[in-house]
Amino acid sequence: MVTVNRNYLKLPGSYLFSTIAKKVKAYKEANPQAKVISLGIGDVTQPLVPAVIEALHKAVEEMGHAETFHGYAPDLGYEFLRTAIAKNDYQHRGCHIEADEIFVSDGAKSDSGNIQEIFGLDNKVAVCDPVYPVYVDTNVMAGRTGDYSQERGNFDGVIYMPCKEENGFVPELPKEVPDLIYLCFPNNPTGGAITKDQLQEWVDYANKNGSVIIYDAAYEAYITQDNVPHSIYECEGARTCAIELRSFSKNAGFTGVRLGFTVVPKELVRDNVSLHSLWARRHGTKFNGAPYIVQRAGEAVYSDEGKAQLKEQVGYYQRNAKAILDGLSQAGFTVSGGVNAPYIWLKTPDKMASWDFFDYLLEKANVVGTPGSGFGAHGEGFFRLTAFGTYENTLEAIERIKNL
Ligand SMILES: *Cc1c(COP(=O)(O)O)cnc(C)c1O
Repeated sequence: MVTVNRNYLKLPGSYLFSTIAKKVKAYKEANPQAKVISLGIGDVTQPLVPAVIEALHKAVEEMGHAETFHGYAPDLGYEFLRTAIAKNDYQHRGCHIEADEIFVSDGAKSDSGNIQEIFGLDNKVAVCDPVYPVYVDTNVMAGRTGDYSQERGNFDGVIYMPCKEENGFVPELPKEVPDLIYLCFPNNPTGGAITKDQLQEWVDYANKNGSVIIYDAAYEAYITQDNVPHSIYECEGARTCAIELRSFSKNAGFTGVRLGFTVVPKELVRDNVSLHSLWARRHGTKFNGAPYIVQRAGEAVYSDEGKAQLKEQVGYYQRNAKAILDGLSQAGFTVSGGVNAPYIWLKTPDKMASWDFFDYLLEKANVVGTPGSGFGAHGEGFFRLTAFGTYENTLEAIERIKNL
């Protein structure tokens, strides 16, 4: 008899963004004249920059000629891209990372979900609360957690590290020592950042206790403050305790193109086994490489033109973030984030529940955001707005919220 992976059945109800989509659809059907603005989902709106488009065209053309055609890409990524990444993202920032420690993939969502596979099922996992749901759900699917508690709004057997107003949305070192620690900074959903000194404490803690930090740096391009690290490898000792995940989605608009990478330093050893070799094995067995065309587009992100054009594009979203942050604080809201990240974390007025505020904003201002409670129990009473809209829509949405 066929049995299924019953761990999947532990996952509670519908996915956050499908619930939002259903509510918005119902509202639009009932109010066809309403001009609804979405500052909800974390997807970009600006087109790919010219340097990237040019690289794509060129690579497409190459694929049409026998002499320049490319079949399967190397499992771990083309040398030209891994070298560009190691040089630009790491060596130029003073981080010791080599090209052969970079594993090119189709994005950070897959990597953040897949990385848990190289660890035993008895590892204890710690996540921030609120959290990017992928880290938790993939560990649930693997059977690394207990059941979901409806009452608490989270899973048994997971260490949740509250990120609250009082700690500046940076968690405290957990008392119960975890094996795997997921950190994402600058953070989705809170938009909060961690300073280099604070991150150094986590690196020291992980090295002392033998934990591994899985560091999601998908939003590093949005950092504006000097004391905020772009990579965990800026911290001393990170090569022996940290894996870093990166994406081309938020810095270069590749959400629909798909490209990312994971860094696993060769010194990272646990249980007498090199994690670099385990991830290489996993990647080589289950992944047949990111497309040649897309890796050439990724390479263009590091060209002089690409860098200049993307600085401008990220600046466009940063200007939105600042407009939301300034506008809403002038309107009397308590807001945070938005300085080193494209997310603004808004405290709901009068302790309104996150979903109630969602309905209120949709009905009264025709603005869509994301209820904080959808990201975890400690997100209750908060609301996420993204800076990924157009500038015009962003200003219009702020005006409407101000006039509530
Ligand atoms: C958007 C995002 C990513 C990037 O995902 P891709 O699969 O590369 O598009 C990774 N981590 C977090 C926290 C994100 O918000």
